[in-house]
Amino acid sequence: MQRDIKSIVNQLVRKYHTRNPYELCDCTDVLVQIGDLGKIMGCYLLIKRQKCIMLNSSIIDTPLEKVVLSHELGHSRLHRKNDCYFYGSTFFNKAKEENEANTFAAELLVPDEIIYSNPDLTKEQIARMLGYTEMIMEFKNIGKK
Ligand SMILES: [Zn+2]
Repeated sequence: MQRDIKSIVNQLVRKYHTRNPYELCDCTDVLVQIGDLGKIMGCYLLIKRQKCIMLNSSIIDTPLEKVVLSHELGHSRLHRKNDCYFYGSTFFNKAKEENEANTFAAELLVPDEIIYSNPDLTKEQIARMLGYTEMIMEFKNIGKK
């Protein structure tokens, strides 16, 4: 059965009144740390019942920063006990959990309203306007108005 990720994201946004993944990590007791992770862009780990997300300092202030953070936040909401190591290839990973985390990130970062209010822009232009990697748009489902 497919989970309704859009509804899960919308409930979270309504509860905490933000789409900022950093603020949502704060609100939901997820520890975020930034450091040199080599080739890994980010990861999610459950360490002694503490949810932890680590981001590679190399992606901070790039179009990947909030996308990777939101993906890992998605794991913390959807697959609490699954570790995730995010590589560039994670966008192409067909595993159900990875697809759900990518969808979570897309629904969090690209609200339907943005798409409705910019009908002349392509998906790629919208991603660029928002400052996110275009890859995220592959996972965005546009709901009915
Ligand atoms: Zn993942």
